[in-house]
Amino acid sequence: MLERPRLAHDEDELIVQVQALLADPAHQGNPLREPLAHLLGCNQVHQAQLRRLIRISDGYQYISRRQQESLEHQYDRQLHRLEKLARISDRYQNSLRELSETLKQASLHDPLTGLGNRRFLMERLTQETERANRKESPYTLGILDVDRFKAINDRFGHEAGDTALCAIAQAIAGALREYDVCGRWGGEEFLILMPETPLDFARQIAQRVSQSIKAIHLEFLDIGISASVGLSVYRLGERFSDTLNRADAALLQAKTHGRDRIEG
Ligand code: GH3
Ligand code: MG
Ligand code: MG
Repeated sequence: MLERPRLAHDEDELIVQVQALLADPAHQGNPLREPLAHLLGCNQVHQAQLRRLIRISDGYQYISRRQQESLEHQYDRQLHRLEKLARISDRYQNSLRELSETLKQASLHDPLTGLGNRRFLMERLTQETERANRKESPYTLGILDVDRFKAINDRFGHEAGDTALCAIAQAIAGALREYDVCGRWGGEEFLILMPETPLDFARQIAQRVSQSIKAIHLEFLDIGISASVGLSVYRLGERFSDTLNRADAALLQAKTHGRDRIEG
């Protein structure tokens, strides 16, 4: 607000003095009396105009301040709303990310054993084949099939079969090296991928896996579990399906040669 120009106290006093002089009959004939009275009249008109201007200016300032305050208030409210929206959107994006991660995990894992599923294995086979060719360092594939698994289901029930499959999955995973890959290929078949591993070394690892499966003890099971394994080394430049086919053929050999053995 503009500081109201003070109508000086002196000025008020001066006006009172002038009014008294004008009213004094002793100065009736004074030639200055009339212009002075006129000047006093002008002064009072100017003062009234000045006061009016001040009132108008105060009014404007008041309105403008109210408008500014209201704008600031609106701006704060909008800002607050935007911050809230940003927080909600962050939370939403995080849960979407978590959900898509969960979905991805679910789509790549076998729900029974927790191992990678066939889709996961296909992805890893593609990656490892590319790496084997780039580094000219072949991997060895092993297909493991549980021997006479149907008999376990038939004798002890499907649920017992499921429990046995989980124990087998754990036994396989536990017997492998950190960088080997295994997963459930389907049914009671598991795939083992041993990167940069020659056949004789892969055979030793398969032997370890086989021992680990035979060591499984389950309360309800009064028969031992064994598995047959077919091995095949990747040949640089071929499709991994060719390697898989050879491993399958080796597995068939292991089955026909009496099971509980490693071929390839
Ligand atoms: P082989 O030594 O020739 O492999 O004999 P096998 O009995 O293991 O082979 P077969 O192919 O005749 O039977 C496989 C059985 O595995 C049949 C099927 O019901 C069972 N199986 C496959 N997947 C599961 C599963 O998720 N849970 C249970 N409990 N059984 C399964
Ligand atoms: Mg089978
Ligand atoms: Mg089988």
